[in-house]
Amino acid sequence: MRHELSGLAARLDGRLSLPGDPGWDADRLAWNLAVDQRPAAVVVAASTSDAVETVRAAAAAGLGVAAQSTGHNAAPLAAQADFSEVVLLRMHELRDVEIDVEARVARIEPGAQWGDVVAAAAPYGLAALAGSSHDVGVMGYTLGGGVSWLARSHGLAANQVLAAEIVTADGVLRRVDDEHDADLFWAIRGGGGDFGVVTALEFRLFPITEVVAGMMLWPLDAAEDVLQTWAAWTGGLPDSVTSTARVLRLPPLPELPPFLSGRSLVIVEAVCQESPERADELLAPLRALSPEIDTVHPQPVADLLALHMDPPEPTPGYGDGMMLSELAPATVRAFLDAVGPGADTALLVAELRHLGGALDPDAALALTEEHDVPAPGVVSGFDAQYLVFATGIPMPGIGDGLVASLGRLFSRIEPWRAPVEYLNFAEHARSAEQLWGERVHRLRAVKLAVDPAGLIRSNHPVRR
Ligand SMILES: Cc1cc2nc3c(=O)[nH]c(=O)nc-3n(C[C@H](O)[C@H](O)[C@H](O)COP(=O)(O)OP(=O)(O)OC[C@H]3O[C@@H](n4cnc5c(N)ncnc54)[C@H](O)[C@@H]3O)c2cc1C
Repeated sequence: MRHELSGLAARLDGRLSLPGDPGWDADRLAWNLAVDQRPAAVVVAASTSDAVETVRAAAAAGLGVAAQSTGHNAAPLAAQADFSEVVLLRMHELRDVEIDVEARVARIEPGAQWGDVVAAAAPYGLAALAGSSHDVGVMGYTLGGGVSWLARSHGLAANQVLAAEIVTADGVLRRVDDEHDADLFWAIRGGGGDFGVVTALEFRLFPITEVVAGMMLWPLDAAEDVLQTWAAWTGGLPDSVTSTARVLRLPPLPELPPFLSGRSLVIVEAVCQESPERADELLAPLRALSPEIDTVHPQPVADLLALHMDPPEPTPGYGDGMMLSELAPATVRAFLDAVGPGADTALLVAELRHLGGALDPDAALALTEEHDVPAPGVVSGFDAQYLVFATGIPMPGIGDGLVASLGRLFSRIEPWRAPVEYLNFAEHARSAEQLWGERVHRLRAVKLAVDPAGLIRSNHPVRR
């Protein structure tokens, strides 16, 4: 391997790391610390030119190339049988964000995280369709879809992309948009990272500064009441409200605040783009259940990065996602059989996110004119009403229990499974048909046209 890639190191602005090198273990580390990434080599890119050089060198050496921003969804990539013949192209040091205030457009480098974009946009009174976590990579999130706290009013983040710069398998850097390489531009908006190494992304921002948002928290014993009420409540909400409900079992940890440490809880989080008075009216059915803590208040939209209390830094995780067509009373009971009070589960969190509104594919299409963006790409929204994501920490001794707990949850709610999957919350392999349905044929045609030899690898390949 040293021989095959030997010329590459000298051509890089960043660095090439090979098995046995002093920095190897640090360089191959993903955000998800439970994932043991063992590629042929790692390139830590310091420039766009590094992406071009890496693609060309890997092609010459007969290796694949997989781009990675943070490694939040590294598990299905590292599990691929031929991952040991892939150069992992890590982009996490390239984090610049430029804001065009007049045009309301952000241009990001490939390693930018949502915290970077929010910090750059907020001083201008602009908001992005950011993920719930400050350190999720904008790139993987957006190429896979992107469900934000503004999702039910504004749709997927991928629908706001205006242009991308991408190094394709032939080692050429292209700028793609609605009028240039339109098929490729369609494929990368929801098709993930299988089509090239994306080195820059430009997307629309919104003049939103404040929302009414927060969480309500109850002891886990209240889960049946709270989740049944939340499920019924979401059925009648305007698109201006995006919310989640989840069951949490937290270990006693000194770094957690006392109201969380060692406790089992049910939590509802809601973001309302409404006046405080209207938000109070909307939230009344949940408040009637007397939450132990209620933090809902008007706040800067930038503060939403803290709302979900996601892990502040890289963490080991074993989890997966599923979409649901509905959340009937029987669905809630099945969900709680697996993770509710008294359930034997090793899951740390089991979460339900409310979809619909602008996440409906027809609604997404209708919004493109209003948002002054191109027609959506391969994934414009979801034919599903709720998203389930559940995860735990695979510590020694509980790994098997975690796999069994996740399996139990998903088999209990299987009858309500929607016929679609969401790439970003799929942390295990899926067939391309499960992820893209009928649209997979056009996606595969694009892949064949831009990467006939299958040089570019991703966590969710379109050919599988
Ligand atoms: C704690 C946590 C919170 C999350 N919150 C949300 C949320 O609120 N909403 C939501 O929708 N999702 C959320 N997710 C899921 C998240 O969107 C996915 O994990 C997504 O893949 C993360 O992107 P990344 O770039 O950080 O990950 P990575 O693992 O680095 O990338 C995932 C894939 O994206 C592609 N990719 C990344 N960079 C490039 C590039 N430069 N060029 C080409 N392809 C590239 C590759 O195929 C790569 O395998 C969350 C995940 C976690 C763990």
